[in-house]
Amino acid sequence: SSGSDENDVVVIGGGPGGYVAAIKAAQLGLKTTCIEKRGALGGTCLNVGCIPSKALLHSSHMYHEAKHSFSNHGVKFSSVEVDLPAMMGQKDKAVANLTRGIEGLFKKNKVNYVKGYGKFVSPSEVSVDTIDGGNTVVKGKHIIIATGSDVKSLPGVTIDEKRIVSSTGALALSEIPKKLVVIGAGYIGLEMGSVWGRLGSEITVVEFAGEIVPSMDGEVRKQFQRALEKQGMKFMLKTKVVGVDTTGDGVKLTLEPADGGNQTILEADYVLVSAGRTPFTAGLDLDKIGVETDKIGRILVNDRFVTNVSGVYAIGDVIPGPMLAHKAEEDGVACVEFIAGKVGHVDYDKVPGVVYTHPEVAYVGKTEEQVKALGVDYRVGKFPLLANSRAKAIDDAEGVVKILAEKETDKILGVHIMSPNAGELIHEAAIALQYDAASEDIARVCHAHPTMSEALKEAAMATYDKPIHI
Ligand code: FAD
Repeated sequence: SSGSDENDVVVIGGGPGGYVAAIKAAQLGLKTTCIEKRGALGGTCLNVGCIPSKALLHSSHMYHEAKHSFSNHGVKFSSVEVDLPAMMGQKDKAVANLTRGIEGLFKKNKVNYVKGYGKFVSPSEVSVDTIDGGNTVVKGKHIIIATGSDVKSLPGVTIDEKRIVSSTGALALSEIPKKLVVIGAGYIGLEMGSVWGRLGSEITVVEFAGEIVPSMDGEVRKQFQRALEKQGMKFMLKTKVVGVDTTGDGVKLTLEPADGGNQTILEADYVLVSAGRTPFTAGLDLDKIGVETDKIGRILVNDRFVTNVSGVYAIGDVIPGPMLAHKAEEDGVACVEFIAGKVGHVDYDKVPGVVYTHPEVAYVGKTEEQVKALGVDYRVGKFPLLANSRAKAIDDAEGVVKILAEKETDKILGVHIMSPNAGELIHEAAIALQYDAASEDIARVCHAHPTMSEALKEAAMATYDKPIHI
């Protein structure tokens, strides 16, 4: 058992931050134990986040294409139907396979896996209430907190995971809602709204702020919102939810303009609360060892991921920075590299963000608003997907590539892509940004034809010269 012998590294939490840190630590020759309460590895991302949402986005996209687009390509069906249990089954199978895959990686790398709820008894000891009802104390020289995040609740809106659901409930509805109201226009709300919208739900997104996805470039955001509206998504921006009534058949939401005014009622049969996520440290007994958190509960760390308590580290969603799986993974690797006496580094300004709707929106680096605020002289290179031959060939040409480059040096500052598979296309830009490339460096790279990546090349040409195809 793990209880008696001391570890070099103990990781609390088996999400993308924690499990990656554990594997990397073991690969660096450190004796490692990972503690996870869920009974399955992969955390929020794999069990109730990134992976199941992408499974449903793909399945619902296929249905939607079959129903609305296949005939344009000369593919005809007499009827197309949704088999929701089968769709959910494929999602569940993908999740189950991947969680088992991580268990396999733990075995392969000799990471010790303890299933249970961990809490600190000292800066080098974690007491674990194990899933099978026992208790064990796991000791380690270095302890990494990777406990992630949880759904943020809204005052007055109680999530029951039946009619009023979080993203977790929205990934497992047993029927297609007639009317789904999404509270919060962040990427999670828009992705889940897209899933159910494609399957036939009427979607209304209610957002307190004046815009959707706040981290997105403003110009791209406007185009993106129009694209979603064309798909039938309705937006009520600058609107707050002040009350919820579930006493009748469905749900009645009382709405009010964000800065006050007349109330209106909005009816729905389901409501998704996706108003952000909050760091999760409940039951960890952080106060027992004196680990500091900020006002919103995030654990504070230095640039080596060390908390104010020596030997105790934190990574992923539970610390400041973008709350994304790939950022958590990068944190995990860098953190254990420091522990192993090497050097690690994560640049939060170069973490790509992707919204996996259709079209997708992906971005890396700065938005035009951020560049303006910095007072840097810049140029914009843009290329519409409508002028890209591949996108036209497949009749999927809604979108744009936008590159921001420093005027004097042509150095890339930010890249914003709205296109099918933008989440794949963005990495060319991420590499360019990482290597401090000029926009001309991308423009002069030979890109295969016909690909959507050519739109990035043409946008790069447009920052310092002219594109060819428009
Ligand atoms: P988590 O994944 O939250 O893992 C923490 C783990 O720690 C959990 O499994 C928890 O059970 C365990 N734990 C907590 N406390 C204890 C304890 N005391 N003892 C033992 N175990 C404990 N990100 C992306 O990058 N791309 C996406 O497409 C994407 N889609 C998403 C879709 C949805 C619907 C949601 C909700 C999130 C999505 N995210 C996405 C965000 C992503 O899931 C998180 O950023 C990521 O999971 C953070 O990883 P983490 O390891 O820090 O924490």
